[in-house]
Amino acid sequence: MNTNELREAYLSFFESKDCVRRPSDVLVPKDDPTVLFTPAGMNQFKNQFLGIGPLEFTRATTSQKCLRTGDISNVGVTAYHHTFFEMLGNFSFGDYFKREAIHWAWEFLTDSNWLALDPTRLSVTVYLDDDEAFNIWEKEIGLPKDRIQRLGEDENFWPAEAPSKGPDGVCGPCSEIYYHPPSGGKEVEIWNLVFTQFNRVGDPPDNLRPLPKQNIDTGMGLERTAAVLQGVESNYEIDILKPLCLAAGEVVGTKYDFTAKEGRAIRRISDHVRACTFAIHEGATPGSKADAYIIRLLLRRAFLEGYLLGHKEPFLHEIVPTVVDLMSVPYPELKQTVENVQDTIREEEEHFLGTIDRGLHKYDKLVKKANNSGTKELPGKEVFDLHQTDGFILDLTSALAADQGLTIDMAGFKIAEENHRRRSGGDVSWGVMAAGPLDGIQQEHGETKFLAYEGISSDAIVVGMIVDGKPAESVSQPGTLVDVLLNQTPFYGESGGQVGDQGVLKSSKGEIEILDTQKHAGLIVHRGRLSSGEVHLNSSVHAEVESHRRHGIQRAHSATHLLHHALHIVLGEHAMQRGSKVENDHLRFDFSHGGAVTSDELRKVEDIVNSRISEGASVSTTFMDIKEARAQGAMALFGEKYPDRVRMVSIGEYSKELCGGTHLTNTGQVGVFRIESEENVAAGVRRIVASTGKKALERIRDQEELLKEVAQQLKAPQFEDLPRKVSLLQDELKTLKQQLTQFTKASVKDAVSHLLENAEQVGDAKVVCHHLKDVDRETLREYADQLRQKGKSIAVLLGAEIDGKVALLAAVSKDLVKQGVKAGDCVREAAKIVGGGGGGRPDLAEAGGKDASKIDSALVKGAEIYKNLLAK
Ligand code: ATP
Ligand code: MG
Repeated sequence: MNTNELREAYLSFFESKDCVRRPSDVLVPKDDPTVLFTPAGMNQFKNQFLGIGPLEFTRATTSQKCLRTGDISNVGVTAYHHTFFEMLGNFSFGDYFKREAIHWAWEFLTDSNWLALDPTRLSVTVYLDDDEAFNIWEKEIGLPKDRIQRLGEDENFWPAEAPSKGPDGVCGPCSEIYYHPPSGGKEVEIWNLVFTQFNRVGDPPDNLRPLPKQNIDTGMGLERTAAVLQGVESNYEIDILKPLCLAAGEVVGTKYDFTAKEGRAIRRISDHVRACTFAIHEGATPGSKADAYIIRLLLRRAFLEGYLLGHKEPFLHEIVPTVVDLMSVPYPELKQTVENVQDTIREEEEHFLGTIDRGLHKYDKLVKKANNSGTKELPGKEVFDLHQTDGFILDLTSALAADQGLTIDMAGFKIAEENHRRRSGGDVSWGVMAAGPLDGIQQEHGETKFLAYEGISSDAIVVGMIVDGKPAESVSQPGTLVDVLLNQTPFYGESGGQVGDQGVLKSSKGEIEILDTQKHAGLIVHRGRLSSGEVHLNSSVHAEVESHRRHGIQRAHSATHLLHHALHIVLGEHAMQRGSKVENDHLRFDFSHGGAVTSDELRKVEDIVNSRISEGASVSTTFMDIKEARAQGAMALFGEKYPDRVRMVSIGEYSKELCGGTHLTNTGQVGVFRIESEENVAAGVRRIVASTGKKALERIRDQEELLKEVAQQLKAPQFEDLPRKVSLLQDELKTLKQQLTQFTKASVKDAVSHLLENAEQVGDAKVVCHHLKDVDRETLREYADQLRQKGKSIAVLLGAEIDGKVALLAAVSKDLVKQGVKAGDCVREAAKIVGGGGGGRPDLAEAGGKDASKIDSALVKGAEIYKNLLAK
């Protein structure tokens, strides 16, 4: 059975058990701060499991795209771990439970209409005291006792070790199903059935309370089960992975074979490229933080594997089309971003290529040093330096080190990182929202009724307040920072790139100024500061959004849709949205595009947007089924999660986007649109920053003012005269520079003759050590050159203070170099006196230093060194 057939069989089997087939959730979640990537099938059903919000169905089945960063080190090593894999799941929200979950799993695995696996090859585990599960397996399924193993909470509980260690909340025992291959190889876990039946409250004993509504959450590994069905020894040998390994082998010029020594490297390359293809398709990019950091790590790790196999050119991007092909049945949409994904990966490869040699060299030195001093630990400070300056990010070095049985001094790394953060000005942010109390408020009061589409003010009731992360009954201390929850609100919570609203909440007794609005699950959180009086829980307030700001935001948002439309016309359909930020009359729009956008293209884009504005087309919004919206050609983003009912924003006949933001009613209200800049933000991603309405006008005026000022300074009555005036000035400057150089050369010539006349004679050689005043680096070099030319046998050391620092320059004529007089030897010792260091070639060497008051002593020292060397 191939993988596509297996996926389909699983989903239809559970459909026959009345589970609703749901699409995979996104791989890179944008609204769940607790995970970087979706790690399991259950994540999209968190609210259903917690009993938050309405339940549209109580049984579901999915094939979920997953990425587990915790398994990175297993990849290529074990036969059954990937970073990216698909998890087949069936779920019950207070509906069927243990008995059905076990029976159906068994039926699917062993029934001749389904997978028809040999039952004697299967064994299971249950949680220590889960007799219920044990009995179902033994008495109802008929599994012999010796194939049912009881394991502790570290293995068979979800979350692991929850009973003794927590966290509090929903948890339960699980039961895993293993397959024992006929080859006699190690058994493999293919399916885990989790029975969430408890609420944990506090520490043991008696801390597991039965839940009124019990849930089922199961996960079966698609690739692992396919390997079992296809009778192969490893996941990497199945229909969708073997061809990928072969293709990767071909690209790096090594024939892939499962048992070959290079096998592990090629499996890692294949796995990581597959994971990155899916993540970048959804808009992730390599970078230094969070999910971006993981993408960077995966790409660099994979690249390094190829590099160490001797392939020293970018190659990962060449593997992407094979991934897309192999996954095209379940994920046809990958085809639409294949070029963007390749561009992104290639750029990251090129970037890393620039530092990889230096990094490897430094890394090897560290390992040698550690080995010589008999330690198994690499020093944290140096590892941080590799991380910061050579592209060998921490986890990459860790992985390399682990392969050689070495560890990293993490305490030292943390200190170096902290020092660096302090030097470069760390980031500050408003405290995180307290998820615990927020979930509690939502469970009690339900979601916030959202009125932002209807207007900008409304009456409301305060249903919750949070101060310092804890629920509060009232606030009365002026200046207190408070998160306020209302039963309904006209405030827009930051989402879809649009910033949150600001405004005010007024009660009869006090006022809270709202500085920002955020979303948390179904809640809208007003983040404010008490400005006067006091505000109590359950009091009535009047909620008022700051209207000028909101209008500015709406102008920017509708203009963003116009910009997206114009980019498609000017650059092509590939210029898809990758990120967006909509603020008061200001917008930032990131999109896929290979190279820079030319100024001609930018002008065209700006023109199209402005003509759409002057046409005054109507902007309308409608709610409809996602299917209907797609059929109408609405633009949706990959990696964005859409509900079944979506909101479509249409402008004229030309723009239809799925969007939850607030908009104008007519494009004319944008006023003006002006592009401020265009730049590269990440590999294959460009950014346009633009302004609208009042801000656009202000910017144009500011620039005009600037021009006026320049015109006045240049005494050019007309702006048109400016270019000519400037080029005249440039010509004048050029002539002056040339004259100055000639003049400097001439004066250096005089000074050099003087120095040579007064030079100290040591045998046949001259020694000149001199302190120069008011010179720049170029002149300093000019001195050294001329002295060497004219002095024949000469050793020179020049010192000067330039821009507050010491510059030392040593030069030695060729004949003296042959005698063993080296410029580097002199300058190195002299530099120590001025608190610096340096070096260079035997005939020319430079050094810097801090203490200018010691230049003369440094020169004396230099002369001494030369004399000693000449005496030998
Ligand atoms: P293991 O102990 O083998 O890492 P797990 O206990 O972490 O597995 P679960 O979290 O129970 O696995 O996930 C459910 C199923 O998903 C597993 O039974 C397995 O079939 C599959 N699975 C989990 N992790 C991976 C992975 N990294 N690569 C491929 N399949 C996986
Ligand atoms: Mg695991």
